[in-house]
Amino acid sequence: MTFEQFSLNNNVLEAVKDLNYTEPTPIQTKAIPVLLDEKDLVACAQTGTGKTAAFAIPIINNIHRIVGSGKKRKQIRTVVLSPTRELAIQIAENFDELAKYTQIRTLVLYGGVAQNQQVDALKEGVDVLITTPGRFLDLYKQKHISLDGMHQLVIDEADLMLDMGFLNDVKKIIKLSPTNRHTMLFSATMPLPIRELAEEFISDAVHITLNSAKNTSQLINQKVYMVEKEDKRKLLHYVLQQLDFENMLVFTRTKQGADSVAEFLEKNGYKAAALHGDKSQSMRLKILEDFKNRQTDILIATDVASRGIDIDALPLVINFDIPNIPEIYVHRIGRTGRAGNEGLALSFVGRDEKKYWHDIEKLIRLQVKVVKDNPYPWKEPVTGAKKDYRKGFGNAPKNGSKSRKSDASKKNKKRWY
Ligand code: AMP
Repeated sequence: MTFEQFSLNNNVLEAVKDLNYTEPTPIQTKAIPVLLDEKDLVACAQTGTGKTAAFAIPIINNIHRIVGSGKKRKQIRTVVLSPTRELAIQIAENFDELAKYTQIRTLVLYGGVAQNQQVDALKEGVDVLITTPGRFLDLYKQKHISLDGMHQLVIDEADLMLDMGFLNDVKKIIKLSPTNRHTMLFSATMPLPIRELAEEFISDAVHITLNSAKNTSQLINQKVYMVEKEDKRKLLHYVLQQLDFENMLVFTRTKQGADSVAEFLEKNGYKAAALHGDKSQSMRLKILEDFKNRQTDILIATDVASRGIDIDALPLVINFDIPNIPEIYVHRIGRTGRAGNEGLALSFVGRDEKKYWHDIEKLIRLQVKVVKDNPYPWKEPVTGAKKDYRKGFGNAPKNGSKSRKSDASKKNKKRWY
């Protein structure tokens, strides 16, 4: 399959070529024809599968057909709802890249910053509005946004909208939008409230399921360490010394956890930074920028802050803490193994987390390989633990915790995939 086969406008095709998208990803192959035909869509697809372009390409193509050389009055034709500011910015970047040979203007709106500039930009006129639900409703109530010309509504990362408590705002926005709109919903998982939302508001949709939570990417090599909670930092240090990775994402469950791991790594000579919701918006953007530009090598993030982070070819994800919701594991490891690149996902399972890990393996229907080269394994078996976990038991080295980054082991770094 090629992009030419979709009969896209040349202005869109050229932009696709500039991005070096040689062939459509599976979600693009399925979704683009449906959306070019202006049919409603409910798609189960994770971030990292190329889903942004799967909706951006046909939307841009359809708007370009209408606005052409740009003489038409600018009005909001498409609204893309995104749960987080970071994700909204990334979607806008993708739209801008794909619309660069058209007259289509995009604008991204999010809360936590003054609204004046956003209001001025709205007055200048935009075709595609990418926004978090809260700021959208604020500006709509103040009559800075008109939906009279709106034709397309995209609800992205619907399950995260639910997790973050935005579902009511999303419903409000759906009700505000014209009834003849064309609606697209994307979600990595389909929990009941999202299925109900789809049934209520997008009843005639084409359904596409791809890379569902049960079907983690074949490109991701998953491994697990059974490690005592108090030894996790030492294990992290050990693993970083063993591996030849330049940039990686480390997940913690709490903001405090992210800060303390970042501090620990910095003390040990790594360029690390914590990304979480307690940091100001400008700080979060700077941290992401530094990571993208390789000023920082290790990003330690909580789930909400990291959702949707799109770093080209992020090779390694480490689950320092195990999430209590198994779907979150799938989201986390979906930061690696993206767009055809291989990735490695390592998980540190404390004894208190064995139930979470069990739920994850049940969801992904996979027994993840337990790493035996583990100097800090569980010290004694846990009653009721799965038999396989015991392979990870052993004795911690006496001086293992004192090893430094400059140790000889650095010379023996190895690739794991
Ligand atoms: P997404 O799932 O939208 O977050 O996309 C993940 C990454 O895949 C982004 O960096 C996109 O630029 C990239 N991408 C999207 N479509 C393609 C494609 N057809 N070929 C190669 N890379 C792609």
